Amino acid sequence: MHTLLTRTLSLALLAASPLAMPAHAQETDRFATVEIKAEKLAEGIAVLVGQGGNIGVSYGPDGTVLIDDQFAPLTPKIEAAVAALGAEPVRYLINTHWHGDHSGGNENFGKAGAMILAHDHVRERLSGQQESGKGNNPSAPKEALPVLTYHDGIKLHLNGDEVQAKHMPHAHTDGDSVIFWKKANVIHMGDIFFNKVTLPFVDLESGGNVMGILAAVEKIIPMVDEQTRIIPGHGPVASKADLIAYRDMLKTVIDAVKQGRTDGKSLAQIQAMKPAAKWDVNKDAFISGDAFVEAVYKSLETPAHSHDAKSHDERAH
Ligand SMILES: [Zn+2]
Ligand SMILES: [Zn+2]
Repeated sequence: MHTLLTRTLSLALLAASPLAMPAHAQETDRFATVEIKAEKLAEGIAVLVGQGGNIGVSYGPDGTVLIDDQFAPLTPKIEAAVAALGAEPVRYLINTHWHGDHSGGNENFGKAGAMILAHDHVRERLSGQQESGKGNNPSAPKEALPVLTYHDGIKLHLNGDEVQAKHMPHAHTDGDSVIFWKKANVIHMGDIFFNKVTLPFVDLESGGNVMGILAAVEKIIPMVDEQTRIIPGHGPVASKADLIAYRDMLKTVIDAVKQGRTDGKSLAQIQAMKPAAKWDVNKDAFISGDAFVEAVYKSLETPAHSHDAKSHDERAH
């Protein structure tokens, strides 16, 4: 079960890579057996798990909000899962970031009439206005692009709750949003949080930085309590304790890599010390211990982001 979950995740993430991008027919085939499973987290809130990033659903008399939409061939199954919850068709769609395993269904939902919302950089990257790393799709059609974009965040006032998207600068990418349901006490963290299935993926080529991931997690921990249901980008729904464990892992590895750099060690020498070994427990995981250490090492070479993040924060307050 665990291995299957990880393999599914690996495939999902690999599909964002142009090298691994299969032909359309194969792609449709690959998704044929995927089942979308729904788990209710609170009144009017559910998580949908299929292949790709976890989907959040917020529904009620004022309409349905979808958080992320996995891959295009899964749209009919996602729509069916939304309907099975007793929810209306999707009215608003928020992308937590631009990666294909979270925004692949945008064109379908956009054409079906959903309004797509995301951080400014999500639109820039999906439309090819900004150079990106793996999986950038500069030819994304108009209907796939967010029509309502924001910098610091936005709030939707629906279904008796306040659904807030808050930008976390330079974390998994440079366009990440974390979604908070204020009353229901639920959060969707996108790929800032990989819960148990793999070590974190830091998309440096899309402006991501491990220091921004840590900053985001540090910001969120005081905002949640023991009852908060935390939807990670990938992996099972988590608790505050899981998020604290994730923060501790980040700090331990970052501190070890920092120390190694201070001691004049090369990346290979730091990797040989295996600072992430304790969490590098699944050989099928998408990101290995060595890959994560490399991402941390490279993140520490680009300190400009931390200044950037600070100025964003100051402005937000
Ligand atoms: Zn993802
Ligand atoms: Zn991602």
